[in-house]
Amino acid sequence: MKKVFSLAVVMILAFCLCAEAYTPGTYSATANGNNGKIEVSVTFDAEKITAIEVVQHDETPGLGTAAFEQMIPAMLSAQNTKVDGFSGATNSSNALKEAVDNCIAQASGIKAEVVSTFKPGTYSATVTGHNGPLTVTMTFTEDKITEIKADGIESPGLGISAIELLTKKILDNQSLACDAISGATVTSGAFMAAVRECVKQSGISLSVLEARKIAYPEKKAEPVEMTADVIIVGAGGAGFAAATEALENGATVIILEKNEMIGGNTARAGGTLNAPDPERQSKMNPPVEDSVELFIKNTLEAGDFKADPELVRVLCSHALEARHWLSAHGTKWTEMVYQTIGGLWPRSLDEKDKIAFNGFIAPLAKRVAELGGKVVLNCKAESLVANDAGRVNQVVAFDTKNGQEYRFTAKKAVILATGGYSASAALVKKYNGLSGLPTSNAPTSTGDGLTMGVKAGAALEGMDYIQIHPHGNPITGGLQSHFAGVIKNSIYVNKNGKRFVEESGRRDVISNATIAQPGQIMYSIFDSEGGFYAGVKELPPAELANLTSKGYLYVGETLEDLAKKAGIDPKGLKATVARYNELVAAGKDTDFEKDEVELPIGKAPFYCVPLSPTLHHTMGGLKINTEAQVLREDGSVIPGLYAAGEVTGGIHGSNRVGGNALTDGVVFGRIAGKNAAMGK
Ligand SMILES: Cc1cc2nc3c(=O)[nH]c(=O)nc-3n(C[C@H](O)[C@H](O)[C@H](O)COP(=O)(O)OP(=O)(O)OC[C@H]3O[C@@H](n4cnc5c(N)ncnc54)[C@H](O)[C@@H]3O)c2cc1C
Repeated sequence: MKKVFSLAVVMILAFCLCAEAYTPGTYSATANGNNGKIEVSVTFDAEKITAIEVVQHDETPGLGTAAFEQMIPAMLSAQNTKVDGFSGATNSSNALKEAVDNCIAQASGIKAEVVSTFKPGTYSATVTGHNGPLTVTMTFTEDKITEIKADGIESPGLGISAIELLTKKILDNQSLACDAISGATVTSGAFMAAVRECVKQSGISLSVLEARKIAYPEKKAEPVEMTADVIIVGAGGAGFAAATEALENGATVIILEKNEMIGGNTARAGGTLNAPDPERQSKMNPPVEDSVELFIKNTLEAGDFKADPELVRVLCSHALEARHWLSAHGTKWTEMVYQTIGGLWPRSLDEKDKIAFNGFIAPLAKRVAELGGKVVLNCKAESLVANDAGRVNQVVAFDTKNGQEYRFTAKKAVILATGGYSASAALVKKYNGLSGLPTSNAPTSTGDGLTMGVKAGAALEGMDYIQIHPHGNPITGGLQSHFAGVIKNSIYVNKNGKRFVEESGRRDVISNATIAQPGQIMYSIFDSEGGFYAGVKELPPAELANLTSKGYLYVGETLEDLAKKAGIDPKGLKATVARYNELVAAGKDTDFEKDEVELPIGKAPFYCVPLSPTLHHTMGGLKINTEAQVLREDGSVIPGLYAAGEVTGGIHGSNRVGGNALTDGVVFGRIAGKNAAMGK
């Protein structure tokens, strides 16, 4: 009887729900996903959900989109949102559920009660950040958020800066209406998802905090006027090197930065800097022979002799001095001199944490602040103005948040340090014809300095040369060099498990060879011994787990196991590794002529990092001379205008040597800063 009764109740309930469950129609709602808002529309007939569609989103292809693909059919089948989220895409999964729940509530005629006070207490939530778990803990009184703490392994200068900025905004404004921080959207999205989860636990309606505006100064009718000896556009590596040098030479300095945080592409660089360094190289086993002349030769050859030999001479002969100068300003280095991907000679040294923000940006920014240099954030330079004598002496800029116009007057000189243009699909297409490739760059790398420079009369150099880095994440385009195998202890194979290119070769050669492989993908394979040298051994366990859960890194107890997980042909991989180990035993790679072979691949666990080409560096840019002065087509100097870093052309030729860009930014940034301070 009991059974029948319960069945009957269920049937009656089911009938009631089915008969009058929903008001038919299509309802929409938004929720905050990982990279921004997602908009969902859900269609109902009187009895059930008939369709769910994500109308708009910025979620990561292959992660957020995979969550949608998996969850929407499951929700339709369950007729509710109590379905599994997608592993590695928690924030996208939660946002989808939140938006669909909202539509269900609308179709069911449920009006949410608005609660406008907090339940005092401390609440916490854990989400997946960029590098691993991110736990946010928030404390509330009845009417206020009083504290926000974040605990995780996000990247210094990117994720951590974004969290600091967002925390301040939330506390100052008691609001959740915060946009993601450009350049750190994944961490921003994850942090805000955890914050919303804590706020939900506090009992207040999210809509109350989402409706509060973030305070920002009102735009004034008149332009804001500011003056300094040297005006620098761009707060990246070259900009800070220039600013430090200018300040140390007695000038006053203002740096304009269009982003909400400093660092540019330099903040996300691995921190590998090339310089012949006899003191360190002689201690290597075996000792490394090197010289400025060899560095010049390697750089010119690598760029197919398209670089300006004079600029290359300056780059190479000041490289070691640049490294020592950075050390004197607080940069710490790893001990091992090695050959980075596309580095072509063992003369690379990494910043201690392999994070250029820590090694380059943070110490220089501190020094700039100590010397009274000013950084104006959210300030996008638009054009350069010259005085009656033809000397560039003004930068016109706009506040990116409220449109306020600024006029910066340079008593001595203006320095453009705006970086490259890999993140401008339009410029990449215009100058190189490439389209559809992802980029490893910050979204701020849009070539603004080129446009401004050209309008001021500058010539461009080497614009058709763009570097496609072979170490891109096949899904996001982000760089994975810090945990891919080191060259001498790893191999690149294709989906068939076969080697296809010399691993120690030029980046363009490896990228082009990869593009010709099935799926335009290659796999860096190494073992636990080789992995000791690769960054894998140094990764915090949580980051390792994060990488494996997202399929950015595979670990296998046998080569077969590894191949199966990564989708490589197991037989092909086993045969390739056996052959490679023979070559290692013989001490020479006669198959692909890799420069150096050290350890065999034989000790479990085995590792695999899938890699695809990604737009990485734009070698072309403003034409400069050895004094970092910007030149016109006829070779004459534009008075008062300097440029340094990736915005310039002619230094790398057709292909940049891995590890030469940071050297470039520091060497030419310092030259520009010193000359500008002297009003040359
Ligand atoms: C993921 C990654 C890893 C890398 N690793 C290495 C490495 O280990 N070693 C190496 O040698 N090279 C590396 N590179 C290359 C190197 O980092 C860059 O070439 C270099 O950092 C560029 O420095 P920069 O100062 O010229 O430009 P950036 O550091 O990009 O700085 C330019 C700044 O100008 C700002 N800006 C742009 N336009 C305007 C405007 N209109 N108004 C105001 N501000 C503006 C930007 O927002 C940005 O902050 C790497 C690059 C990437 C993307």
